[in-house]
Amino acid sequence: MPIKKRLFVALLAISVVFLGGLAIIVWYLLTHQGILLNQIIFALLIGGAALFLVVIGLGILFLVLALWSAGGIQTPRNMMLLAVNSLFPLALTLGQLVGIDREKIRASFIAVNNQLVHNRGVHVNPQDLLILAPHCLQWSGCPHKITMDVNNCKGCGKCPIDDLRRLADTYGVQLAVVTGGTLARSFVRKHRPKAIVAVACERDLTSGIQDVKNVPVMGILNSRPQGPCFNTLVDIKQVEESLREFLGMAPGKNEEPRGINYRLGG
Ligand code: SF4
Repeated sequence: MPIKKRLFVALLAISVVFLGGLAIIVWYLLTHQGILLNQIIFALLIGGAALFLVVIGLGILFLVLALWSAGGIQTPRNMMLLAVNSLFPLALTLGQLVGIDREKIRASFIAVNNQLVHNRGVHVNPQDLLILAPHCLQWSGCPHKITMDVNNCKGCGKCPIDDLRRLADTYGVQLAVVTGGTLARSFVRKHRPKAIVAVACERDLTSGIQDVKNVPVMGILNSRPQGPCFNTLVDIKQVEESLREFLGMAPGKNEEPRGINYRLGG
């Protein structure tokens, strides 16, 4: 399992151990400090906590198996999702406490998510596939309002929106450029795609993937050579590979991403 994915899985496992330790300390204090507690409620609390930990622990075990076998072993998706979603905030906090950058943990979560989506082998029709892109990909000096309608882009080549439009046209998929999570969610609710290729920063991708649990999302990180939320870029080749995968097409011979060739501000 590549190091990028291992980080997140390791933090999940540490979180379970942490919660288990916490449960033992609470149990010790309750039984040795003479605190009066109804025996039935006490047993229910401990039993519930133990059951939760067992389910979460199994979820992580299944997750490791799924990642390790690259989809060769079928594991219960709901248990893996429960483990990931319940422990993610704790894993993020514990990681930070030991000095691991939040963005690095989020990037690891996104890599784990992408592998699980890949393992599922989801194939959809072009009209059910959506490319969701952030507004910050648009060149800051562009006068055209593309969040209302991406066809307002004139294709001048100054930013990656031009390439994303070309991809959307080539493969016949939907493309939406959104200014934030709320708009992204409302677009997804309205158009009900069956799969999404989402481009965003670590924070937005993480929350977006968790928000739309029932729709498989391939997350692609944007790059920020000029700082966050400003003239950001994306690896078009990676977007195209994700589209082809969802469409059940063999990996293509892509053009090189134009990346540095965008004539930003020119
Ligand atoms: S490609 Fe040109 S017209 Fe299209 S959004 Fe970017 S800057 Fe604007």
